[in-house]
Amino acid sequence: MTRLQWWRLGDRRRRFDQFLAFSKSPTRHSLAKAAWRAGGQPAAAGRRVEPATVLRERGAPSWWKPPGMGRRRPSPVAMTQTENSVPHLLDCGVDCWQQVSKKIQTATGVWIFLDFDGTLVRYYNRPEDVKLTGKCRRILTRLGRHRRVHIVIVSGRRNAALRKYVRVPRVKLLGLFGWEKSGRTALPRKTREALRRLRPVLAPLPVSFPGIHVEDKSISYAVHFRGASPQQQRRVQAWIRGLLTRIGPDFRVIQSNHAWEIVPRQVQGKGVAMREFVRGLGASFLPIYVGDDLTDEPAFVALRRGITVRVAPVSRTKARFRLRNPEEVCVFLERLEEEIS
Ligand SMILES: [Mg+2]
Repeated sequence: MTRLQWWRLGDRRRRFDQFLAFSKSPTRHSLAKAAWRAGGQPAAAGRRVEPATVLRERGAPSWWKPPGMGRRRPSPVAMTQTENSVPHLLDCGVDCWQQVSKKIQTATGVWIFLDFDGTLVRYYNRPEDVKLTGKCRRILTRLGRHRRVHIVIVSGRRNAALRKYVRVPRVKLLGLFGWEKSGRTALPRKTREALRRLRPVLAPLPVSFPGIHVEDKSISYAVHFRGASPQQQRRVQAWIRGLLTRIGPDFRVIQSNHAWEIVPRQVQGKGVAMREFVRGLGASFLPIYVGDDLTDEPAFVALRRGITVRVAPVSRTKARFRLRNPEEVCVFLERLEEEIS
């Protein structure tokens, strides 16, 4: 054995003795507690102290770590912080609202893009039960009369369904994630036939997975998973992924908060639809986009120079502001009307 090997053995022995002594000492519990406490401190409360620093400062051996340290753990404090980092549009302070107000007053045209379900109306278990409140309808009607204001509803529903529930004059409808607009050419025959063939394939899903509901939108299929357990949701998602591989590149899946939408590849989502729509509007208009869904996130990015609002208690969004529910959306529309008139 070389001299170096002898030295290393001695070092190991010293560390082992230290380990034995420390593992029997009662102080290690208080050290572990202090380290955990340091790890949970919010950054806003001051300098963030690393748990490892606390241990070293209190004299813990360099090799010792409290059980589980270094593993990520969810912290309720951190969740609240992230959520609050997106300002609430109606409660973001005087300066913030003045900036919003200035943008509205100086714009030559204001285009208000609104999602429907979860934004203008609350979610219902049966999508056909939704009802736009009289108050909200009256505000939209008055806003629509204003010469500077244009209102567009951008939804995953088809235009025919939106027409039935919205019933507000001078409101433009962009159904099927913005794909359904006037002048749009019909789908190729091959895609229409493939859509027809999908119907019997999807029909047994609710039988095999109770809680799953398949909605036939004639141009697309929405597989609603709100009533299914997380385990079933994972199984159905994997099944849909397999189905897409089998049917080829003519279809894609758009995931919303409560459904997977199997759509023809021509339907590219709200982000692309918004980019196409505003291309011809010039630069001096102000876009305002309000939506509650995952499918609205690409639209927030596309219209990031405007006022973008996510209606949900979410922690991650590309929107600049948030609102809590459809009732607050109506209050915002009312304030918007005051700013415009
Ligand atoms: Mg929605």
